[in-house]
Amino acid sequence: RQSKSTSNTSENVQVLVRCRPPSDMETKTDESVCWVVSPEDGLIKLDEASGPVFEYGTHNAEIYESGIQKLVRSTMEGYNGTVFAYGQTASGKTYTMVRLEASNLRIAHICPLGPPHSYRLIYNERINDLLNSQRPPVSLKIRTANGQDYVEDLTTVVVATPKQVMDHIKLGDTQRHTSETDYNGKSSRSHTILQLTIESKSKVLPMAPVQVSRLNLIDLAGSEKVATNNERRQESSFINKSLMTLGKVIIQLNDGAKHIPYRDSKLTRILSSSLSGNDRVAVICTINPAWRSKDESTNTLRFAQSVK
Ligand code: ADP
Ligand code: MG
Repeated sequence: RQSKSTSNTSENVQVLVRCRPPSDMETKTDESVCWVVSPEDGLIKLDEASGPVFEYGTHNAEIYESGIQKLVRSTMEGYNGTVFAYGQTASGKTYTMVRLEASNLRIAHICPLGPPHSYRLIYNERINDLLNSQRPPVSLKIRTANGQDYVEDLTTVVVATPKQVMDHIKLGDTQRHTSETDYNGKSSRSHTILQLTIESKSKVLPMAPVQVSRLNLIDLAGSEKVATNNERRQESSFINKSLMTLGKVIIQLNDGAKHIPYRDSKLTRILSSSLSGNDRVAVICTINPAWRSKDESTNTLRFAQSVK
């Protein structure tokens, strides 16, 4: 039997969204309303935005100038700064971070102040040095000295010009691609940390001590949930754990908490010395525009909101 209008399910299924107003009790207890509804456009959105939201075609320069530049400049005043790119694979993390690093203009904001820098990769809680071309890559250990965690035997180079910085970043990127091949090409399943140590001296007060600070530029592993086989599941659980820990650390830093769970993942352990209450943090959340990614995009926005 032929059924009517199977081709047009929208006639068969109706979905309506109704938001009830706050009750007297909720009003009395000052419970804040979470949703903004806009019936004309058929839109419902969370009231508290996660942060500035950019148009589809926004250039990296605009993202940089919207706040990252301020963070970079504050690293020259002695504050530590860390920029994260968070989002699912193929949402634009590397596009955002590499361009932030790669523009000579941006690097010129820091140089020629002579920052030694290092470049490393964390995959499945293994740490590799991207400025060391030894094959197979050596897995590095985290050590603690004077209460500070650091990565042992990490290559650091002293650089004084934007070109030198760029040359090392390029070298690191080549190594990154090689390491990805070592790990079966799972490019998006590792965190990449570019760490610059900045020494700056006041022009106004030449006798003032040299300020030392850190700038970390971090391209995080894809935030998507994947669990197809054992290896993937293990990999995914490491990633989820480190991203979850990162979220917790940022939230607790914001709240001024006493105990910050740095030690719960290698990523946060490595960053512990440059993630404290006084340090500047920017999280750039990237999302994929497609419908098929909407659940992951929602998760990314949730992360954005939680760490704000
Ligand atoms: P991720 O690092 O999150 O996996 P990529 O940065 O590699 O994602 O981006 C995936 C693809 O989308 C790449 O081909 C990249 O060039 C492109 N892309 C990402 N962001 C943008 C953007 N803002 N504008 C234009 N192309 C972009
Ligand atoms: Mg990437």
